[in-house]
Amino acid sequence: MNERYSRQALFKPIGESGQEKINQKHVLIIGCGALGTANAANLVRSGIGKLTIIDRDYVELSNLQRQQLFTEKDAENQIPKVMAAKEKLEAINPEVEIASHILDITGEEIAPLLQNVDLVIDATDNFDIRFIMNDLIHKYKLPWIFGSVVGSTGMSYTILPGETPCLACILNTTTMTGATCDSVGIIAPAVQMVVAHQSAEALKLLVEDEKALRTGLVMFDLWSNQYQTIKVDRAKKADCPTCGATPAYPALSYDERTKTEVLCGRNTVQIRAKRDVILPVLASKLTRLGQVNVNEFLLSLQYEDLRVVIFKDGRTFIHGTDSIEQARRIYYQLVG
Ligand SMILES: [Zn+2]
Repeated sequence: MNERYSRQALFKPIGESGQEKINQKHVLIIGCGALGTANAANLVRSGIGKLTIIDRDYVELSNLQRQQLFTEKDAENQIPKVMAAKEKLEAINPEVEIASHILDITGEEIAPLLQNVDLVIDATDNFDIRFIMNDLIHKYKLPWIFGSVVGSTGMSYTILPGETPCLACILNTTTMTGATCDSVGIIAPAVQMVVAHQSAEALKLLVEDEKALRTGLVMFDLWSNQYQTIKVDRAKKADCPTCGATPAYPALSYDERTKTEVLCGRNTVQIRAKRDVILPVLASKLTRLGQVNVNEFLLSLQYEDLRVVIFKDGRTFIHGTDSIEQARRIYYQLVG
């Protein structure tokens, strides 16, 4: 037996046969922030065969309080989150194959990345992407573990397409607030509590012990000491456009999704322009306007009172504004 996994294989519900299954499995994690890095670390240490991680962002100083794979150096160098995570994960366990993708999920274009995946873990921080994933995992019939965290509260729920109600069904029956971690803050133990639920469910699915899965939606508040599991068996709607009898997958049907959007609570506008940017060339053009930093993946420019970050594929963040008009004007001034 591989000594690395000996304590995990000693745990009866996993055993050596479960460990062999874990070693063969491919997990996809959507989002590489607080939930994504911690789930990734747990799964890579547990010895999954392959991990794919997708994220659209880069590391900033304000991430370090809770996003456990990142260092101050990653923030200084503005390394894309998936690249910084991949480096640490490979150092933790080189037996795991790790694929990382710097991209924003807008619809079905990520379908090729779902091939040969056994399990998907939700670690994003926004509901637009979650509803796209809700449709995709039903269309491609993949188990999916939802998780969300804000302040000292968190939720998790395991979705099995064809069996359980989908995310849209259960969220219609529970109260949702518009709070995000950028508007009300977040504490690290709330992240770890959600991750504990997600990673445990992941291990059960990877060793194919479906009887052990939790069936309800778990919700907690670590600050006010509340913990509850809500039964959701009856939440499934027969006419649900995602998990009902005749699915239409509504989140996949906007193919021209908003190209420019304000990132909720971040005082940032994202522009999704598809073009190849040759970073060093653009950097030398922009140096006359202000301080430019460039790495292999992106460049950033301090411009007036804004910070502009341009990725290799043309996607751009304008930090310091929530005006789409202003952001577009600046984008055309700088990138053309
Ligand atoms: Zn549904």
